Amino acid sequence: MNELRNKSDILSMNLQELTRFVEELGFPKFRAKQLYGWMLKGIPLEQMNNLPACFVESLKSNALYALPAVEQKWVSSLDGTVKFLYRLHDGQFVESVVMQYEHGLSICISSQAGCRMGCRFCASTLHGKDRDLLPGELLGQILVAQREIGKRISSLVMMGIGEPLDNYDNVIRFLHLVTDKDGLNLGARHISLSTCGLVDKIYMLAKEQFQITLSISLHAYDDEKRSSIMPVNNKWNIDSLLRACASYFQTTGRRISFEYTLIDGVNDDEEGAKKLASLLHQYMKDMPLHVNLIPVNPVAERGFDRSSKERVERFKQTLIRHGINATVRRKLGADIDASCGQLRHKKREERVGT
Ligand code: SAH
Repeated sequence: MNELRNKSDILSMNLQELTRFVEELGFPKFRAKQLYGWMLKGIPLEQMNNLPACFVESLKSNALYALPAVEQKWVSSLDGTVKFLYRLHDGQFVESVVMQYEHGLSICISSQAGCRMGCRFCASTLHGKDRDLLPGELLGQILVAQREIGKRISSLVMMGIGEPLDNYDNVIRFLHLVTDKDGLNLGARHISLSTCGLVDKIYMLAKEQFQITLSISLHAYDDEKRSSIMPVNNKWNIDSLLRACASYFQTTGRRISFEYTLIDGVNDDEEGAKKLASLLHQYMKDMPLHVNLIPVNPVAERGFDRSSKERVERFKQTLIRHGINATVRRKLGADIDASCGQLRHKKREERVGT
């Protein structure tokens, strides 16, 4: 953390801020442009070969360039999904996954090292939160993945480790950086942010007026069940959450996407699907929405099982019969354990020697 206090975090800067910083170090403006060009390509300082050595030295002493390092990388032989285990500048680990779709490459990035939300079925929260990621560390996950894969990534989901709205200011700065015309220039409509439901932050996010998609991890059809698997529901219950969702749509015009993890015998019954449908109709009226059903990925420490194919299908059909647009998430990268949280957890266990 000392390093952070004394050095300027350049990967979290936009081109204007970087230019000011470079000029303050006593170097001309055009060096900032060169530096920024390399940064956007995810290139380490030592390899920026058109920069004078004195400039690189000055950056080493005055700047934190928090580009994640690739600790490990796996490529799925089934569908080309690539999973990265990144090491951050202070030795923390996070994960990103790049998936191939017909429309191009999509990346799922992490927003925090760990998570303090405590969802019972999730691997990322087993040991709480270690720290928030910096805006540049959010961006860096994309830059390094593009460098490694050699192709442009055209869409982004914030659905990896961590709760993005619990790292609000850094995530907002990152959203400005990643959509910046001088930067990666990613279209806001190609960005989704997933939250377990920090209601106050959902209202704040709506006011920012990004054209991003908000995904809500709902996972239950009543408060009792939701509180039993998602502690956040004790603070922000379903009523407050769905009101915030309706308001988000009214403010931004963006359709809400609901994530619903199906856990065998917990939240996957047919009656439950009917209750979910009526809940969504009640709050969301005829606003456009979508329910993404995700059979739970069993986490050894958690003891939840995934619902059978038949139960998943029945849940989906019940929603559709009741007028709710629902699909089952396609599983990518099944051979490389591509869902998030588990690798970081394993790596952490190795370190602490348990
Ligand atoms: N904190 C954010 C984003 C990270 S989790 C959120 O809660 O939305 C991304 C998604 O994966 C969430 O919908 C989360 O509930 C879900 N998830 C977590 N653990 C899972 C598991 N073991 N199986 C299936 N989905 C899981």
